[in-house]
Amino acid sequence: MSGTPQYKTLKGMQDILPPDTFLWQSVEQTARRIFSAFGFQEIRVPVLEATSVFSRSIGEQTDIVEKEMYTFTDKGGRSVSLRPEGTAAVVRSYVEHNLHSLPSPQKFYYFGPMFRYERPQSGRFRQFYQIGVEAFADPHPRLDAEVISMLGRFLTSIGLEGISFQINSIGCEQCRPAYKDALVGFFSDKKENLCPDCVRRFDRNPLRILDCKVSRCIEARSDAPRITDHLCQDCRTHFGKLQDLLTLLEVSFAVNPEMVRGLDYYTRTTFEVTSQGLGSQNAVAAGGRYNRLVKEFGGPDTPAIGFAVGMERMVGLLKQSASLTWPAPAVFIAALGEAAGNAALRIAGKLRDQDLWAEVGDAESSLKSQLRRADRLAARFVFILGDEELRSGTLKWKNLADASQGEVKMTEIQEFLAAI
Ligand SMILES: [Zn+2]
Ligand SMILES: [Zn+2]
Repeated sequence: MSGTPQYKTLKGMQDILPPDTFLWQSVEQTARRIFSAFGFQEIRVPVLEATSVFSRSIGEQTDIVEKEMYTFTDKGGRSVSLRPEGTAAVVRSYVEHNLHSLPSPQKFYYFGPMFRYERPQSGRFRQFYQIGVEAFADPHPRLDAEVISMLGRFLTSIGLEGISFQINSIGCEQCRPAYKDALVGFFSDKKENLCPDCVRRFDRNPLRILDCKVSRCIEARSDAPRITDHLCQDCRTHFGKLQDLLTLLEVSFAVNPEMVRGLDYYTRTTFEVTSQGLGSQNAVAAGGRYNRLVKEFGGPDTPAIGFAVGMERMVGLLKQSASLTWPAPAVFIAALGEAAGNAALRIAGKLRDQDLWAEVGDAESSLKSQLRRADRLAARFVFILGDEELRSGTLKWKNLADASQGEVKMTEIQEFLAAI
């Protein structure tokens, strides 16, 4: 009957099916709940934008823009791209709709698919989902601390344990050029020790040599000058205050002067989160401050900060959680015969009025096959309804989890379910 399907998802793309979608909803609901408490509101932006929205913000010379974007020419001859990340489109929207005229700070969150044409490998997809936040128009480190602590709360609520932030300041347009010069000076006689990628970075973006994972690059930079020693007074004050506030908010963190992040638009604060529970050094979420991007998009000079979390990773974590319970019907009504079948539909209707998941068996099939279906659905309760029950007005119930059973009057079903 079923052979090889004629149509399949594209390489690196995946369908997300029930019951997994339940976990996706659960992560999203947790995010909405926690972000709302911090005053963040949802923003929805298109997945398709003018290519320049991304090349301008992320940087022409980044891997994302150079190699990984889904870029094509539309029928009007415009170069358009599927968004590889969320920040650029939110900033475009912020400027386009004058959102800076809203009360400050303006705080937004988004969910949605992002697209990068990467070599598919385990846990990486070409269409992947992110939850992100962007907060605008407050330069104070209080906002950085709030955003970081909000991210910590979110990850803890998802069930991540041993959360630790790594934070850094990568300076501003005042102090970073001199630091770049110091780095170039340091690496100029060590070029032959660097990996080919870092040799390229040396000319284009020497800061990125600092987060290369290749061991000879790690060795070559062991004595490299540290950005934290080159910050201007304002950046140093900002970074110091951030650390005080994180301590006040009981957020666990360590300063990592090598964490510079891959994107061009960051200024001052950058951060990443790792989880001990994952037994991995890989960050589960990352973000930073980008104080110049709004202005570069033609808006007023507006500081901003944001982060993004990978949904696939969060859902994977939830799956490992011991307390995971999948959704299941509250009640399965097995009915025997047409009259009982009709009564079962009415009872199910009343339960559904109360937002309970009620399933009705096929009254024309055997009790045994209906019970088998209830079992496969993992229904909490089975009600059994035949001619005799219709006459007496009393149903038999069975709890499938603990095999307890009993009887309940048809008129008291709601009270019965409410009591358990
Ligand atoms: Zn500075
Ligand atoms: Zn390298």
